[in-house]
Amino acid sequence: MRIISKILSIFRGRTQPALRESALLREQLDMHAGNIGVSLSGNILSALTIGILMRNNVSLTTLFALLFALVSISAMRLVTIWRYRHTSFDEALARRLRRDIAWQALFNATVWGVGLMLLMRHAAPGEVVLMGMIASGLLGASAVTYGTMPAAAHSFTLTLSLFMIGAFTLADLPFSNTTSALLVCYMFVLMRTIDHGYTMFCVRLARECELDDTANTVKLLLNDFEQQGSDWLWEVNEAGLIVAPSVRFAEAACRPVEMLERCPLITLFNQCPEVAILHDHIRHFRSFRDLALPLTIDGELHWWSLSGRPVDSPVGGMRLRGVASDVSAAKNAEVKVAYMAHYDGLTELPNRVMFNEMLNHAINRRRKTAQLAVLSLDLDHFKSINDTLGHPAGDELLKIVSRKLEACIGKYDLVARLGGDEFAVLLTEGQTIESVTVLATRIIEMLGQPIDLGGNHALCGTSIGIAVIPDDGESVDELMKKVDLALYASKANGRNRFCFYEPGMDLAAQARREIELDLRAAMVRNELELHYQPLVMVENQKTVGYEALIRWNHPVKGLIMPDDFVPIAEETGLIVQLGEWVIRNAIAEAARWSEPLGISVNLSPAQMKSAGLISTIMNALSASGLAAERLELEITETVLMRESAANLATLHRLRALGVRIALDDFGTGYSSLNYLRSFPFDKIKIDRCFVRDLDQREDCQAIIRAITGLANSLGIITTAEGVESKEQFEKLRLDGCTQVQGFLYSKAVPACELTNLRPATPAITAPVAPQVLLPPTDKQQRVRKRA
Ligand code: C2E
Ligand code: CA
Ligand code: CA
Repeated sequence: MRIISKILSIFRGRTQPALRESALLREQLDMHAGNIGVSLSGNILSALTIGILMRNNVSLTTLFALLFALVSISAMRLVTIWRYRHTSFDEALARRLRRDIAWQALFNATVWGVGLMLLMRHAAPGEVVLMGMIASGLLGASAVTYGTMPAAAHSFTLTLSLFMIGAFTLADLPFSNTTSALLVCYMFVLMRTIDHGYTMFCVRLARECELDDTANTVKLLLNDFEQQGSDWLWEVNEAGLIVAPSVRFAEAACRPVEMLERCPLITLFNQCPEVAILHDHIRHFRSFRDLALPLTIDGELHWWSLSGRPVDSPVGGMRLRGVASDVSAAKNAEVKVAYMAHYDGLTELPNRVMFNEMLNHAINRRRKTAQLAVLSLDLDHFKSINDTLGHPAGDELLKIVSRKLEACIGKYDLVARLGGDEFAVLLTEGQTIESVTVLATRIIEMLGQPIDLGGNHALCGTSIGIAVIPDDGESVDELMKKVDLALYASKANGRNRFCFYEPGMDLAAQARREIELDLRAAMVRNELELHYQPLVMVENQKTVGYEALIRWNHPVKGLIMPDDFVPIAEETGLIVQLGEWVIRNAIAEAARWSEPLGISVNLSPAQMKSAGLISTIMNALSASGLAAERLELEITETVLMRESAANLATLHRLRALGVRIALDDFGTGYSSLNYLRSFPFDKIKIDRCFVRDLDQREDCQAIIRAITGLANSLGIITTAEGVESKEQFEKLRLDGCTQVQGFLYSKAVPACELTNLRPATPAITAPVAPQVLLPPTDKQQRVRKRA
């Protein structure tokens, strides 16, 4: 058999691919077993045909002998296949069976060859042709039957062909030599065809094995993925019903596998636009990636991310198959971030971003005739409550205020915390000026009530600015700008009130901005100047000191009074630099006076916070040589209201230097007698509003009398401001006032006009740091010349 194979390998064309022996054996025997029935029937049919044909030409013994040989071989072949079919696959046995089949093919061919050779000798020429045809049929059939086993196929073909060549050569027929030559050619062609067929068979088998391997690997990986990975596979049929759900899928969905089987995939998810998208993908068998869908599992909201692509179904039609994963953690984080971006964490109110979005939405959706309103709120005393009661109390206050505001507004309105102690309200329902006024009044009243913060009753109050849509604008930016201007106005008007936006507010704000810019330049250009107003003793009407009051010599606008720029300097923080300049120059001026009179300097609350205040004062005193007792610092109640502990400490340190401290504008603010207790003031300055109305209102006199009485009992000097008439002076004298200040004696005048004090050296005001020496203005030159 090996020799035959060797000879045949010469004809072999393409080399066969390497195959696993077991796979090859299985396939060869399977194919052969499949063909055996046809092969045996062909054999029997051919044998019967020949038997019937030749029954008169040859002896029955010969015919039976041939038939017996054929039947025996067929029986052997059947046994071989039966053994293969009825024993579990064993490679060694299979190899043996394959060898047996090759031998059986050889015997089969030999029996046929011998038989045909014998019969052809006794056959008539027509019968020889028929036998030739039968032989050709057998050769062709064997190429198919043994096609997957080249050894068997070749041994059959070679043997039968050789016998037939021999038979034709021996037969005494007209074209026997030509027929023999032709047979030789056919034999080689057939063997070559068998070989080619076998190669093709091997290639196909190799591919199938490869595919099987790949499929197994994929299966293995998928199993691994299902069991160990966090994702799972899903598959739906053309109707969108789940097909063969995995255990992992069922676990993730918290439902039994049976329940998931043939359940519509989309019904797992909660109603949302994304479910419609999924439905669409399934309907059109479209590929998709990372589609996040919400679903409720055991009452808890989960998010699954699905990816899928169409595949051919093994049972025909299409399917959509993909992976799913639980992305709840990422999605929840995303939702949280989105929440944080739109809500305030402390009060849980919408923040500025959300408010602006909602305002924009409301503007766009507004019906033509509808009027909306925006309210901007700023808590008046939040900072001092925060400072005195601590930040937790401040936070609590903001939460209480938030809830109170929410309770005030309608169902379609919105309250937001814009930041710090700033809130905003959007009134979306059709509003009238009256309805907005009613609400603003209600909010002011409500927030004007004391709020209980863990036993402490805090009074915070609020100022409100209001802008109306569409009258004041129809864009978010414009409205927010205008509502802020209105808020500024309500704060400037004394707080705890509301203001509707008015067109002039823009101009006022613009003017403020111009002043701010101008003021910075003015400090550098040395346009600031101090004027001095005398403080007169009531008992002898002698000047005992001067209050330094700042003026701005504006090159274009002329002399600007402090009320027009000091508040702006306070707002912008410029007051610190400006205040230091006042201190240095006022002290230097007083040091030059011929008499040791007092000098009073006004201090803003912002200056009190400045770390450099004490050192500025000490440096100015030591540089000028002025005795500390001659310096008086005037502060207002607000200094004691805000950051009172720190400010009191600063005041004590200043007083320890010998500097006197006066409480200015007494009677205008809270006028709490507590302030008089909290610090040992040297002086109380009674605000000029009481003096102004002294003639008309008796209560003013009563108040002045009360203040002077209290001050005298505490050993504190009192100075009445704004004394313009002799009558006022007389009343103040009778009421026990110590000092007076006012136009009755003198308005504030430049240092050069203080002729009675004859400064030893001419007064030169130092520019505010940073020092940029610019040429003096004409007016300054004139003043210096006069000096
Ligand atoms: P103030 O401290 O109450 O100053 C007294 C104000 O009353 C001065 O106004 C003064 O000119 C004015 N006045 C004095 N006598 C009379 C009078 O008989 N009748 C009337 N109607 N007014 C009189 P001025 O100079 O306009 O200052 C206004 C405010 O500006 C001051 O009020 C003070 O609070 C602030 N200010 C002035 N200079 C400075 C400063 O250097 N630093 C700071 N922080 N504030 C200053
Ligand atoms: Ca003052
Ligand atoms: Ca005053």
